[in-house]
Amino acid sequence: MFDGNVSPDVSVVGPGDHDDPDVAVMVSVHGDEFAGPRAVYRFLDDDDPALQRPVKFIVANPPAAVSDLRYLDVDMNRVVPGDPDSEDRERRLAAQIVEEIDDCLTLSIHTTHATPEPLAFLHAGFPDALEAAAALPLDYVVEEGQVLEGVFASRGVVSVETGMARSDAATSNARKIVRAFLRYADALDGEPRGADRETRYYELYETATKPSRDDDYRLLAENFRPVEAGETYAEHGDQRLVAEEDFVPVLMSEHGYPDIFGYKGREVGRTLEEAREAWTESAE
Ligand SMILES: [Zn+2]
Repeated sequence: MFDGNVSPDVSVVGPGDHDDPDVAVMVSVHGDEFAGPRAVYRFLDDDDPALQRPVKFIVANPPAAVSDLRYLDVDMNRVVPGDPDSEDRERRLAAQIVEEIDDCLTLSIHTTHATPEPLAFLHAGFPDALEAAAALPLDYVVEEGQVLEGVFASRGVVSVETGMARSDAATSNARKIVRAFLRYADALDGEPRGADRETRYYELYETATKPSRDDDYRLLAENFRPVEAGETYAEHGDQRLVAEEDFVPVLMSEHGYPDIFGYKGREVGRTLEEAREAWTESAE
């Protein structure tokens, strides 16, 4: 399974025609993030899921998941749409997954080192992904298309970070989010989310780079708390990083990535309608 013929693990569950499901739940794009596989395993095993229609469940990177590694050759969520002839296993896996999800509304589950609140990433120009994300129990929906390429969101996937890596809360959030997504997609009975949840909508416009990958900067900014121009948002000894303009920190952390803190974003709205307007226009 680690050499030539790597393939994603794909199962279709639920009543109806298994040849052509149009809803998919994907986990383990990053093999060291176990909230997604645990949530799906428990959903299918413990919860008597009572699915109303066929749903495709995809374990995207089985060899990395077995190895508890983010990836074996290359980060799969940077090389979409992949390449079936590549030496890199994740490029071959990505190419197979792109075919699997081609006609599906797809939810992908991740975890993060940056923030405990669940948030969704998507790209402008996929109104179905936006409608689905807005129906999930999330604090934030973030458009990442201006900054990140080669990600599954560029194929219309809703990528959700359910919480901090290796936390029980991330697994618990993942279970709720999978169920809400399946309700939204009419694969489970019931309403997708509680009425009291307020989601805010942001878009990324730039990476927040570290001046040096060796220096241990202390991050003063908090994710989703606006930083104002002139504010010091990170420091190392007597070096300070001062914001040149207002921005909203997204997925920023001290140690999550070697050469960047995370991303700079801006709020686009507090309702689905506002997000729809912002991201339909920007896609044209
Ligand atoms: Zn991930």
